[in-house]
Amino acid sequence: RTVYVNGDYLPETEARVSIFDRGFLMADGVYEVTSVLDGKLIDFAGHAARLTRSLAELDMAAPVTMDELLTIHRELVARNGINEGMVYLQVTRGNPGDRDFAFPDPAKTPSTLVLFTQDKPGLAANPQAKIGLKVISIDDIRWGRRDIKTVQLLYPSMGKMMAKKAGVDDAWFVEDGFVTEGTSNNAYIVKGNRIITRNLGNEILHGITRAAVLRFAREAQMEVEERAFTLAEAATADEAFITSASAFVMPVVQIDGTAIGTGKPGPVASRLREIYLDEMRKAAV
Ligand code: PLP
Repeated sequence: RTVYVNGDYLPETEARVSIFDRGFLMADGVYEVTSVLDGKLIDFAGHAARLTRSLAELDMAAPVTMDELLTIHRELVARNGINEGMVYLQVTRGNPGDRDFAFPDPAKTPSTLVLFTQDKPGLAANPQAKIGLKVISIDDIRWGRRDIKTVQLLYPSMGKMMAKKAGVDDAWFVEDGFVTEGTSNNAYIVKGNRIITRNLGNEILHGITRAAVLRFAREAQMEVEERAFTLAEAATADEAFITSASAFVMPVVQIDGTAIGTGKPGPVASRLREIYLDEMRKAAV
């Protein structure tokens, strides 16, 4: 694989980052994952906008312009011959040459920019979409700024492991009795023609896929309610699903052992997946 590190395209075995990098020592960094379909980037503009916001919220300078970032994405997709897959991007607060809690002076410590591709043939035709996911609920004990896409992914990783141990696919986080989101995705339930998903705030990541899917749902005359919902409400819903850049729209058919609706992927989730993939392929860059 050819990867990108601070201005250079290198074989992955030659890419190097300092042991003093604040991403490594303090998880002081942000990231984005952009899907590739037909060799093109899905919603690059959305991911670039969220990256800009994440950086601003953490007082980090953008290492390159968003135009340059698009060029780097495209270059990596081309060099690695990616038809379907993802581009992972990470910006950290760089290498101050030592360990210190205080942020280094950005004039002396440039941020570290790293990108790499993940080849995933069959990403859009994922057979899981016809089966759906089983999830468990777990306590949301993450920090209070989940709207910033930081690389602090230890608890989501633990959540995925709890799901694995329970013999299911993923976990939904619950805080004060209400579902926040999935370990790496936004969570939804469906009641009739109504789609219910957590309102934006500091409690969840502002999903780029979420924004697009809600727009398509409204355009298709579905009702959208952005509000918190409980597990009890989810248990009696007609359908459930999740969204993320790499899963697109994925049905959820079981929560904590309770079948949702028929226990099979529902028509709303399936239709939204189809619309999302169709529309986003057309708009891909
Ligand atoms: N919520 C969390 C916690 C995530 O980690 C992700 C994606 O990684 C999402 C939601 C979905 O966001 P997006 O649709 O931008 O991929």
